Amino acid sequence: MALYLHVPFCVSLCPYCDFVVVAGAAARGPASRVGPFVEALAAELQLRADALDAAFGAPSSASRPALASVYLGGGTPSLLPPDDVARLLALVDARFGIGAGAEVTLEANPGPDERGDAWALGQAGVNRLSLGAQAMDAALLRRLGRRHTPDDVADAVAGARAGGIASVSVDLLYDVPGQTLESWADTLDAVLGLGVDHVSAYALTLDDPDAEGLTGPLGDHLPTRAGARRWRQAAAREQDDDRAADQYRLASARLGAAGFRGYEISNWARPGYESRHNLAYWRRLPHEAAGPGAHAFDGAVRRWNAARLDRYVAALSGTMPTLPPGGAEPVDARTAAAEAAILALRLDTGLALTDASDPSSPLAPHLEWALGSGLLEAFAGDRGESRVRLTTDGRLLSNELLARLV
Ligand code: SF4
Repeated sequence: MALYLHVPFCVSLCPYCDFVVVAGAAARGPASRVGPFVEALAAELQLRADALDAAFGAPSSASRPALASVYLGGGTPSLLPPDDVARLLALVDARFGIGAGAEVTLEANPGPDERGDAWALGQAGVNRLSLGAQAMDAALLRRLGRRHTPDDVADAVAGARAGGIASVSVDLLYDVPGQTLESWADTLDAVLGLGVDHVSAYALTLDDPDAEGLTGPLGDHLPTRAGARRWRQAAAREQDDDRAADQYRLASARLGAAGFRGYEISNWARPGYESRHNLAYWRRLPHEAAGPGAHAFDGAVRRWNAARLDRYVAALSGTMPTLPPGGAEPVDARTAAAEAAILALRLDTGLALTDASDPSSPLAPHLEWALGSGLLEAFAGDRGESRVRLTTDGRLLSNELLARLV
C-alpha cells in the first residue's frame, strides 16, 4: 500500500533529534555520502521488489496493487538533488507501481539552502511537501537548534505553491522549553495565515534511545551525542504537562475553528488533505520501507533496517548487493489486536466495538474503564455500528489508556 524511503542526511543535528541522521560533511560537500547512499537505496529497492515479485507477482496486478503512497522522510530528503529524486521515483514506479493519483510526499527543511527546488521536485513526481517548521518564533527556533527563521517557513510555503506542489504540510512542536501559550498561539495563527493544508503538532519528546537499548549494531537508532544528552536533560526540566495540555487544547480549538479536522491525535487537515501515508500506518496496512533505520510491516511481521549508514552502504554496494543488516519480529495475535485498537484510537474514526467489546477480549475491561472515566466516548459509525473514540481529555491522557491496552 505504501512505501517509505529514509534519507538520513541533515546539514546539522538538532539536539532533540532521535531520527536516523548523519550531518555535516557526510551531508554535503566533497566528502558527502549522498551519492553512495542513493546507489545503495536503489539497490535495496531492487532487492525488496524482487522479493515482492516472487511472493505476489508483478506490480500493479490484482494480487499486488500499485502503491497508494510513497514517502521520502528523513533526515532532510530535500537535500537530495532533484535528479536523484526523479530517478528513485522512476525506479519505484517501475518495480513497485505508483498508482494513479498516489500521494508522493517529501520532507523538507525550510532554510533557503535546505528546502530544495519545489518546481524540480514536482517535476520529479513529488505532489506533497512536509515542511519541518517547528515554530514561528525566531528565539524558540534558535533554542531548538534549528537553522531556519519564521520568514524561511513563509518563503518555503510560497515556493512550494509557486512550484505547483498540491499539498503542503507543516510540522510543529509544543511543550518546548521557553515556549509560552502566547508564542504557541502566534505560531498556529502564522501557519494558518500561510494557507497550509495540513498541520502535525507533536509534543517535544526527549527520549534516550541508548537507555532504551535501540542503538546496538542492529538497532534502528544511532547513539546520542553527549552534548545532545545534556541539552535534553536541561530541556526536560523545563517541560510541563499542564502547559502542554493547554497548548494541545489551544491547537485543537484554533485549527478546528479554521476548518481543519483533527483526524488523528497529532494531525489536523483541511478536508481531503489527510496524510494517506500515515493513515496506512494507523490503519495497520502493509507497507514496505527502505533506507537506514526504516521499518516495514507485511501484515504479520515487522522488519527494520539497522541505522548505521556505513554498514548499510557496504551491504548494498558492489556487484553482489545483499540486504542490509537489521531485524524482524512476528506479531502474535494478541499483540496484533492491541496494536489495531491502539492505532484505531489515535484516529477520530475510532474503534469498532464488535470484537473489542466481547467480554472475553482482553481489551474489554480497559475500554470499559476509559468510557467510565470520560477518556472515551461512544458514537455511531457511518454504517450505524457502535464505535468509541477518544475525547479531548482522552487525547491528552491517551498514553494512560494505550499503555493499558498493550
Ligand atoms: S532537521 Fe529534523 S531530522 Fe534533521 S536533525 Fe533536525 S530534527 Fe533531526
